[in-house]
Amino acid sequence: MTDRIIPIIRASLPPARDLAAAPEGDLVDRRGRRVRDLRISVTDRCNFRCVYCMPKEVFTDNYAFLPRASLLSFEEIERIARVFVDLGVEKIRITGGEPLLRRHIESLIERLARLPVEITLTTNGSLLAKKARTLKDAGLHRVTVSLDGIEDAAFKRMNDVDYAVGDVLDGIAAAAAVGLAPIKVNCVVKRGANDDQVLPLARHFRHSGHILRFIEYMDVGSSNGWRMDEVLPSAAVVARIGAEFPLAAIDPNYSGEVAERWRYVDGGGEIGVISSVTQAFCSTCTRIRLSTEGLLYTCLFAQSGHDLRALLRRGGGDEALRREFAALWRGRDDRYSEIRSAATPKPGTKKIEMSYIGG
Ligand code: SAM
Ligand code: SF4
Ligand code: SF4
Repeated sequence: MTDRIIPIIRASLPPARDLAAAPEGDLVDRRGRRVRDLRISVTDRCNFRCVYCMPKEVFTDNYAFLPRASLLSFEEIERIARVFVDLGVEKIRITGGEPLLRRHIESLIERLARLPVEITLTTNGSLLAKKARTLKDAGLHRVTVSLDGIEDAAFKRMNDVDYAVGDVLDGIAAAAAVGLAPIKVNCVVKRGANDDQVLPLARHFRHSGHILRFIEYMDVGSSNGWRMDEVLPSAAVVARIGAEFPLAAIDPNYSGEVAERWRYVDGGGEIGVISSVTQAFCSTCTRIRLSTEGLLYTCLFAQSGHDLRALLRRGGGDEALRREFAALWRGRDDRYSEIRSAATPKPGTKKIEMSYIGG
């Protein structure tokens, strides 16, 4: 098995819909996709400087992070979330930056947990050992922990702030102990940087009950200097692990699940691969993203967002929010990953950073 990239489009696109044809109340975008999954970024700050996300040379001590006054308040986030749930959102993910750095994050979780949806959070795990109990008590259902290596040297190379792996493993253990499970452990694989960690991570998490997932390195933002040849295709990840521990494909948990699932034939549990680059899944993308300052993005690769904070702060009510969002979603035509070029974007192309918009 070579590590060659073979771009495949997973499913053929449904025909673009005639906007006028969608019945009132049937909220679908131009490609027939519904809104199901709301990702809320609660801070653009982070205590890590992962090389593929917040490279140190760009995110320096002088970097202009968002000022406090521009952040959405928890009350504002709750209002927006409530409207989205009315419009079909079934799952809310809290992200960032590092969401556990946002002060009193548990109060936001308490508010969101009143909604009839699943509440999850993605974290680098550094503060999880301390906060797992409070998060669970506030009503959080599950956590996803990012972990790009299991050997200290490799992990430190990726987080670039000399952070040791032990605290993150303690965080995962604490989350499991309070029932924030099943825990997903996500590793972004950057060829030549941490692909030597694929097998050690697999060995570590087999039989743990946690689901290890490998994510293809993506060209999000403009600061990580992404190159296609640094992407290790998921097919290569599966081949590497499968050569040591035989794997068998398993069905998705639900239609449109982005991770492709594989189980260890010997009963050691399952892994997942997310092939955002080599097998784009735009045709089933039901995600919407709310930035820390209240801009709404219909795609991870969008170059501009829709300002909900302005609408709220000029006194717009829930009905106005609903109307604005419905109009925005009906006009959505995003499918960046299906049409990305193999080349690094032209200099001057400004895309939103992952640490700003949330993964
Ligand atoms: N700080 C938290 C964390 O790391 O889990 C939450 C925010 S982080 C932006 C969310 C996810 O995005 C992480 O799993 C991270 O590894 C992933 N991510 C960041 N930059 C990425 C990139 N260029 N390609 C693929 N995944 C990326
Ligand atoms: Fe921080 Fe998460 Fe980005 Fe790493 S991936 S720099 S932990 S926001
Ligand atoms: Fe969704 Fe945009 Fe990613 Fe495609 S590129 S899957 S539309 S967020």
